[in-house]
Amino acid sequence: MYLLHELRANGFSSRVLEAGDDVGGTWYWNRYPGARCDISTTDYTYTWDPELHEQWTWSEKHAAQPEILKYAQFVAKKHDLYSGIDFNTKVTSAAWNDSAKRWTLNTSTGETITARHYVMATGCLSVPKDPDIPGTDRYQGPVYVTGRWPHEGVDFTGKKVAVIGTGSSSIQSIPHIAEQAAELVVFQRTPNFSMPAFNGPQPADRAARLEADRKAYEAEARLSSAGVPMEMPTVSALGVSRDEAFAMLEKSWQKGELLALGGTFMDVGTNREANEVICDFMRTKIKEVVNDPETAELLSPRGHAYGTKRPCMDTNYFQTFNLPHVRLVDLRKKPISSITETGIEFGNESKDFDAIVYATGFDAMTGAIVNVDITGKDGLTLKKKWEHGPLTYLGLTSVGFPNFYMITGPGSPSVLSNMMVSIEQHVDWIRDTLIDLREAGVDTIEATPVAEEGWRVHCTDCADITLFQDTNSWYMGANVPGKPRVLFPYIGGVGRYRQTCDEVRARGYLGFELSGSSTKQRNDGIVRQVQPDVDMVLEMMAQMGLPSMDSMSPAEARAFSEASSAMRPPGPEVGEMIDGTLPGAAGPLEYRLYRPATKGPHPVVVYFHGGGWVFGSHVSDDPLCRDLCKNADVLIVSVNYRHAPEDRFPAAADDGYAALQWVAANVASLGGDPSRIAVAGWSAGGNVAAVAAQLARDNGGPELKGQLLLTPVTDGSRQHGSHHENADGYILTKSLMEWFWNHYADQSDRSHPKASPLLASDLSGLPPAMVVTAQFDPLRDEGDAYARALMGAGVPVEHLQARGHIHTSITMVDALPSGKPPRAQMAAALRRFLH
Ligand code: NAP
Repeated sequence: MYLLHELRANGFSSRVLEAGDDVGGTWYWNRYPGARCDISTTDYTYTWDPELHEQWTWSEKHAAQPEILKYAQFVAKKHDLYSGIDFNTKVTSAAWNDSAKRWTLNTSTGETITARHYVMATGCLSVPKDPDIPGTDRYQGPVYVTGRWPHEGVDFTGKKVAVIGTGSSSIQSIPHIAEQAAELVVFQRTPNFSMPAFNGPQPADRAARLEADRKAYEAEARLSSAGVPMEMPTVSALGVSRDEAFAMLEKSWQKGELLALGGTFMDVGTNREANEVICDFMRTKIKEVVNDPETAELLSPRGHAYGTKRPCMDTNYFQTFNLPHVRLVDLRKKPISSITETGIEFGNESKDFDAIVYATGFDAMTGAIVNVDITGKDGLTLKKKWEHGPLTYLGLTSVGFPNFYMITGPGSPSVLSNMMVSIEQHVDWIRDTLIDLREAGVDTIEATPVAEEGWRVHCTDCADITLFQDTNSWYMGANVPGKPRVLFPYIGGVGRYRQTCDEVRARGYLGFELSGSSTKQRNDGIVRQVQPDVDMVLEMMAQMGLPSMDSMSPAEARAFSEASSAMRPPGPEVGEMIDGTLPGAAGPLEYRLYRPATKGPHPVVVYFHGGGWVFGSHVSDDPLCRDLCKNADVLIVSVNYRHAPEDRFPAAADDGYAALQWVAANVASLGGDPSRIAVAGWSAGGNVAAVAAQLARDNGGPELKGQLLLTPVTDGSRQHGSHHENADGYILTKSLMEWFWNHYADQSDRSHPKASPLLASDLSGLPPAMVVTAQFDPLRDEGDAYARALMGAGVPVEHLQARGHIHTSITMVDALPSGKPPRAQMAAALRRFLH
């Protein structure tokens, strides 16, 4: 409806084809009893016509389906949209004609329509899925599907009713069906989390904010995470006691807002343990309400993380199971063997019913799109292209299908957001694009394969740091047999997504090929490559406007670094940590020993911290040392070598080697195994580790089993491409690196292999290495060069090029989930070297 309005307003000719006989979409089809909005209706409204807010007042916080349908009809009438819509008309097939540069659409009314541009605004949850239960066609009584509810309503008075499914639709309708039915049996396969909607008038705080400044409120919604203004949580569910956590959750619960509960803590979406706190809270609530403990337990979700199946909002759902005529059947114990002519056979029971309600869900996200036979360039159908999962650029377009767009398509925030905000954003983007194309004389726009693959990778990166993958949900396509298993919506957030779409336009349609009779432009590229959690940290830091460390004195930089370290999560528990001193090259050095909880003696890793030779200490990489100690099952000795500018080159290198020698000589007394020693280090510490390995080779030992170099400094003698490419914006900057070098070593010393291990004349005979480099690190190329040089010299090397990472991100244990896989690989490398 909004798109039709915008196309008309901007002088495009358009037609809207609609399967139903009225407007309203999801609110037209889903008329089951109790159907209502789960987002406060204040937020679930159009913003494009400011007059609507004066002319329409929602009667309730969560408006019911009839009222939302009336709203859609009201808007359609007000803007004369009915005249632009062909009702009772389905698209049966659509094909791209490459010579005419137009789409040809065939409809259920026998019409053929051609169009320059083709938009599928077919909804994410509009095709009910096949219930997938044997015998469904045998039943002779009335059958109702929540997503196709009769317009005249259904009277269940005095009837024996079966409801199959316990998702949102069922959870909303069951209390109403129970009010009428003589007997109600609910067939549950998976229990769901649900909270009371506490429906009533519009929430006063939101109403006041809207009253005060509607524009600001709407702007905040557009840049929010889920399309509703909300404060972002900063507390970990694991950082407070259980009682405190429950008190905070109770406060969110009382708000009766779907997003409030999940938004109480910062880590419920990414950390299973943190998520379990909410799950526990929700189960406690169920027990408080349901009288029969066995039924309460059956209704309590246990197998999936909160939020990974769409949480529900209800009015008296759990209370309904206290009614004497309502029964819950656990399909995991008593599966349905068949629907019969008169009822349902389940477990060892057979029961007759007067009506069966299927609340079994939808072929979500892609069903409505691929059910239309859409053929793009070279005869490729969208169904075929998407057989292993939807491939889109921005969830808006797809390679091979020029001038084809989707509203809230897979790969866009869609069902993980307030749909109204996401729909409006897509309409705005498509409208602006069509205007741009018209102005530039462009006939076709098509995403490039590079951009589409980049978007797929980014969507996967976002999904990988969440808990969604572990749950069989419709978000993952798991409810439809044979559907590919991927996270269909984009989970990077509404605000970031909007910024991404805007950026694509602002950068001259990055990732698109545009062509017209006298113009052709292919602006290839990938719009988001930094890991999503790393990107968020970078954005937060940019907003904080922190001073650059290279503008500080070494003392100030050390204080700043220590203050930042104090705010990190501590890392995993290890068996034991002991602080001590060891003899360095010119005096005692502090060290911290990390011992695994497992039985020793353990192999030993001598570790050198990062900090550009200027700051850091034996405890400054604590979380990383704990992580490696635990996951590689190794004893770690982290050494506080001397720092510049007080002690310049080669102090750090000499201390590194001296510490290694001392550890080797004292391994047994430390509880380690003298025959299994390796070195490791990060950044400047990677430099110290690499140099120590070379010195050990050249000076008679100790014999090392391996070296783990994380984003190491290997060459201070010259500039590498990544110094320029990643000069700014990724925490370690080119100028900070220069500041480090200036404090550490004279120009003339920087070519010495003890400063630049890459420049050693011979790299053969060094221990097996794992070299980790990060894509957005100024030091990337020198690390890559060291890995290649070691390989060239015959050293066994595992070279991990961490995609989307920056110099610091892999060390941020428990703060950045995307660092976990590379750290796991690092631990695995140490295990290979040493176990
Ligand atoms: P749903 O969440 O997919 O729930 C379907 C239910 O049917 C699940 O409990 C599922 O069990 C069960 N089921 C499916 N096939 C089955 C089978 N063969 N045998 C037994 N049980 C079976 O569908 P929905 O309730 O219609 O909701 C879909 C989505 O629509 C919601 O998640 C929400 O996004 C949206 N919605 C929104 C609102 C609102 O905003 N007010 C209301 C309704 C729906 P399993 O979990 O074991 O697969």
